[in-house]
Amino acid sequence: TKLRVGLLFGGCSGEHEVSISSARAIAKALTTGENTTRYELILVYIQKNGVWKDSDIAQQVLESGKPLLITDEAQRRDRIPQDINLSEIDLWFPILHGPNGEDGTIQGLLTLMQVPFVGSGVLGSAIGMDKIAMKMAFSQAGLPQVKYKLVMRSQIYSNPCIFPKLCDELEAELGYPCFVKPANLGSSVGISKVRNRQELETALDNAASYDRRIIVEAGVIAREVECAVLGTDRPKASVVGEITFNSDFYDYETKYTEGKADLFIPAKISDEIANKIKEMAVEAFLAVDAAGLGRVDFFYVEKTGEILINEINTLPGFTATSMYPQLWAATGVSFPELVHQLIQFALERHSEIK
Ligand code: ADP
Ligand code: MG
Ligand code: MG
Repeated sequence: TKLRVGLLFGGCSGEHEVSISSARAIAKALTTGENTTRYELILVYIQKNGVWKDSDIAQQVLESGKPLLITDEAQRRDRIPQDINLSEIDLWFPILHGPNGEDGTIQGLLTLMQVPFVGSGVLGSAIGMDKIAMKMAFSQAGLPQVKYKLVMRSQIYSNPCIFPKLCDELEAELGYPCFVKPANLGSSVGISKVRNRQELETALDNAASYDRRIIVEAGVIAREVECAVLGTDRPKASVVGEITFNSDFYDYETKYTEGKADLFIPAKISDEIANKIKEMAVEAFLAVDAAGLGRVDFFYVEKTGEILINEINTLPGFTATSMYPQLWAATGVSFPELVHQLIQFALERHSEIK
């Protein structure tokens, strides 16, 4: 009998549309070649307002590639799946990017349901999403990274006002340019590169509109290289890829406008550097307790030979042209085989946790 795979996509995040594209690619992989004899695909779509939809509506969203328009505001209680027969699903494949999907929330629900699911559990997802918690885990594992400071929203709007003093400290410790980021987001949303005091103030105010926790980092001039990790307790690293672009940094527009960024696989770096990156990618994966999949992103400072870890993404973009599946394809694991392996790792992990 076939394993019934619930492909969970969409979600309440700014990366809703990316999730639909990722789900399309995964759905196709589950319904081609050998996978057709192994898996039965069940589509479950989460609308932007958090309402779950299955069968025809989910199918329609996947085929059109367009989010379902929200006509009426959901009642709080309507968000919990009611009409959907969740008991028919043997394994979940959540492919939700960003908050409410990559951060441990969905993973908590699926853990509670006691059904195996692809990817990291609650802990790995939550640590991977929060840039402060992630950096603390990396630092504990001895992984080199840029200098950073945590800023709380309450410090920005405090009374009596400590804002000028806070900016003085950030300037003194991190210098310019620096990067201001909401702690719990992705796709470069809410991130600014700042070069002076006025930009710093504006960027902090802007980041505070997205999150209570803000991270400010010293800026580096470096090449951006990425490594894909696959597995559970003894995960494997893919070949290393590089992203190049002409914009000031790898911002939202550069990420999602066709032709603005180029992927080079494998990256044109020495074997020595590539091996070091692969090793660090696996260490980073284990440091945050990731499982199944993760894309680990680095800054390679060519001048000094330094490799600094930037972040891990526990549910990286998974469209046919995304870095994660392309890195595995270049390593000898085809897209359908990758999806198959992820499901097998999920089953293995579930039986180990039990
Ligand atoms: P996200 O999780 O949204 O992808 P990142 O932390 O990866 O956020 O930052 C997005 C992009 O911003 C990076 O890919 C890089 O181009 C740039 N960037 C972020 N932090 C730094 C930094 N400290 N120095 C130089 N560039 C940075
Ligand atoms: Mg990220
Ligand atoms: Mg990033």
